[in-house]
Amino acid sequence: MTLMLLCALLPVAALSGYLAAKKSMRSEWSHKNLPTSKDYLAGLNFLLNEQPDKALELFIKLLEVDSDTIETHFALGSLFRRRGEVDRAIRIHQNLIARPDLSRAHRLQALLELGHDYMRAGVLDRAEALFQELVSLKAHMRLSLQCLIDIYQQERDWDKAINVAAQFERYTSESMAPVIAHYYCELAELALNQAQPEQMSRYLKLALQADQGSVRTQLLQARQAYDAKQYKTAIRHYQRVKLKNPEFTAEILLPLARCYDACGESEQFRMFLQRCLQEELGAVICATFSSQLAQYLSDPHDINIIAEQLQKRPSARAIYTLIELRFKDSSPEETRNLMLLRDIVRQLLGKEAAYYCEQCGFAAQTMYWLCPSCKNWGVVKPFSGFKVTVE
Ligand SMILES: [Zn+2]
Repeated sequence: MTLMLLCALLPVAALSGYLAAKKSMRSEWSHKNLPTSKDYLAGLNFLLNEQPDKALELFIKLLEVDSDTIETHFALGSLFRRRGEVDRAIRIHQNLIARPDLSRAHRLQALLELGHDYMRAGVLDRAEALFQELVSLKAHMRLSLQCLIDIYQQERDWDKAINVAAQFERYTSESMAPVIAHYYCELAELALNQAQPEQMSRYLKLALQADQGSVRTQLLQARQAYDAKQYKTAIRHYQRVKLKNPEFTAEILLPLARCYDACGESEQFRMFLQRCLQEELGAVICATFSSQLAQYLSDPHDINIIAEQLQKRPSARAIYTLIELRFKDSSPEETRNLMLLRDIVRQLLGKEAAYYCEQCGFAAQTMYWLCPSCKNWGVVKPFSGFKVTVE
């Protein structure tokens, strides 16, 4: 530990030594220099005695803040933050801000850096106050607004996130519409959980105003209609999801089947599945991994079509379902072989994710609208098999 701390502070010691030397070259050696030299030795002594914080205080004092050394202070602060030594980064930046002779530009930069330090330390309220101050001063606007959005997302304060995202959009002219729609969907889901259908409708309307193509909004609209037993409306919403976002087809199959059943129109669902097969969505149908679909796809001709389509988009989930579909009309020996095969595929299932992030490759068994890894919205999609290109 001592060695690590010594290594961490060696650059500080080297820098302070260099700056002290530089200063001494500029002016003649005088009594004024002696205390600095003493301090430097005292700092090294603190380091050797495992008192790195006292050493840091001394080294900070040794680095006289002027136009020559200010960038060194910023570099040191940033270095400490990157190393995870946030307390030290905070002390450096607070020390800079406390200097009355600091220029406006450097003061604003120090405020920004201190905001980043607090973010890294997880002290979000202090970070928020600093970024708000910068925004009110119209300084470092893009970064400050981005950090505020990040803070409100972490705090799940969606109203504030919407306001700041809109402010970011106005300032940068970059569209935040899909993200704002997700914020409204978060509010709509809260309303759904609190059984407030009117509030939910209001938020969904605002989500659609922000982003007409929001698949999450359409799914929530369908869910709301289903809960209200408005099955025909729910069917319309689910079909719209498949039309506009076919990659989400696997998400709608089971609820759609329930809607058709509730209307007494199971035959319509069978026809819907036939259309899916014609659109080469057989692998997606199987990937829903549900024996409930077996009753709609028992025709050997359909199963052969699915098997052909699965060759182009194989996945363990789809193969598992296909094996189950094959059970029917199999001889006892074929059934034994199929069961053996099914058990092997079952072992592969645990290793296959149901959802993947298109942006960073993050894999999960449940759906995330905000990727936990790359922190982008709407980039996690249902996995519908590996694409195989046959030459
Ligand atoms: Zn991601």
